[in-house]
Amino acid sequence: MSSDKGLSPETIAITAGRPTVGPDSSLNHPISLNSTFVAGGAVGYGRYGNETWLALEEAISALEGGRTLVYSSGMAAVTAVFSTLPVGAKVIASNQGYSGTMTLLNNYATANRLKVSFVSVTDTSAVINELSGATLLWIESPTNPGLEVADLPALIKAAKEKGVTVAVDNTFATALSQKPLGLGADIVMNSVTKYLAGHSDVVLGSLSTADAAQFKTLEDARKFNGSIPGPFEAWLALRGIRTFPLRFQKSCENALELAKRLSAHPLVRNVRYPGLVTDSQHEKAKAFMKSFGAIVSFEYVGSAESTDKVCASSKIVTYATSLGGVESLWERRRRWPIESSSVPETLIRLSVGCENVEDLWADIDSALHAAK
Ligand SMILES: *Cc1c(COP(=O)(O)O)cnc(C)c1O
Repeated sequence: MSSDKGLSPETIAITAGRPTVGPDSSLNHPISLNSTFVAGGAVGYGRYGNETWLALEEAISALEGGRTLVYSSGMAAVTAVFSTLPVGAKVIASNQGYSGTMTLLNNYATANRLKVSFVSVTDTSAVINELSGATLLWIESPTNPGLEVADLPALIKAAKEKGVTVAVDNTFATALSQKPLGLGADIVMNSVTKYLAGHSDVVLGSLSTADAAQFKTLEDARKFNGSIPGPFEAWLALRGIRTFPLRFQKSCENALELAKRLSAHPLVRNVRYPGLVTDSQHEKAKAFMKSFGAIVSFEYVGSAESTDKVCASSKIVTYATSLGGVESLWERRRRWPIESSSVPETLIRLSVGCENVEDLWADIDSALHAAK
């Protein structure tokens, strides 16, 4: 939104997506529960538009840039992008990333819907070498759960020179760390379920783009695939966005501290967090990322079974999947059959929340010892 130009994200998160101010006007948009609208207007039907979605879309657009469409889940947003590609199109994607996206891409490849080249996103020249003949470069960075970092400025520039559309899954970094549209990407995707909504109470996704034709294509994908958000979920997510910068900052601070302490823990190895100066991705990441997120992954020195026991032994950190909420969560990723076999059996993905960091550390340290 142009009216938000120059404001900081903390302010934007609080001011964007509000009704026009007047005497007795509402501070918040209502939860618009309507399947249809009186004829003659721009919307017409409940699958085509909704006041509550629009408010959330305005807020995400103000943070990410471009214009935003909200979908019924992060995966619905991912699917919307792939559903618009011609049959047989070549897609380049990371060989390690969110298991849902990886499964979807593998399914499309198996069904000969798409030709998918899986490459290591950390290897900039390997990605660039794949660009010729490609329709879409799908970049997730940092990756889930490996926390590998793609050189976004270099990859986006190279792809645009070759006319390849670039979509970035910004779920882990968020607009507070990196703004892919500002770097020239065509589409930015968010699992709104995670940091934006932030309270582990809603599943939603979004796509943002600055290209009007692309916006129309993706809007049609939502209309006719039918992957629309519920108004209540949209309202909850917008309510979550009001505190998103505060929550994210606190979670990032906690994550850095826990990553440092985990690195020195005798029962832990291979701590991954791009904010650690010792991390293999740190130099690359700090060149374009403002902060490094709040996901830490590490391996427990033990078996898969004892790693499960660690996750089940904590009292404050909940043993659960998902991430990005105020509450800390962790899990052994390989407990999911769809997780890539390249992820170590004893890898724990920790989503660091906003609790007191000393309380978190005491809980994590005692859980690590409980499984020995
Ligand atoms: C969770 C997640 C998704 C999928 O989002 P849903 O809202 O669960 O459908 C996509 N990408 C990443 C990186 C995620 O963490």
